[in-house]
Amino acid sequence: MPQDEVSVHQQLRATGLRVTGPRQAVLEWLADHPHATVDEIGNGVRDHFRAVSTQAIYDVLAACAEVGLVRRIEPAGHPARYERRTGDNHHHLVCRNCGRVEDVDCAVGAQPCLTPDDDRGYDLDQAELVFWGMCPDCSSAAVSDDTARA
Ligand SMILES: [Zn+2]
Ligand SMILES: [Zn+2]
Repeated sequence: MPQDEVSVHQQLRATGLRVTGPRQAVLEWLADHPHATVDEIGNGVRDHFRAVSTQAIYDVLAACAEVGLVRRIEPAGHPARYERRTGDNHHHLVCRNCGRVEDVDCAVGAQPCLTPDDDRGYDLDQAELVFWGMCPDCSSAAVSDDTARA
């Protein structure tokens, strides 16, 4: 990803945010762990960078989401997840059972799905599409449950 060639430090500075240890730690960890929940981020960051409270993680994520360094995904009924892949309006597959999230690109262009049948005069700049289903792990677990019961 070309974004990664620029250091987190430079990315933070480019947005005008102050470069702090927790901000750098969260952004670096999140780059390798897309679609993580606040708890996962907290655990991951604390492994490398002790003494970051959950509230501090929330604050970092809110500030970084505001300036577009982080994207927040909120699948209904599951905890919010965060990722570094921003600005391309990609879509997500979400598992109904375990909440696992995966990226999907749209088939058409860089700003996909911005051409509804009738935009009713709205000036559209984003579309959010979530594909709900069962991930391979959960569907194979469901199958073996059925087999066990039979
Ligand atoms: Zn699943
Ligand atoms: Zn994503």
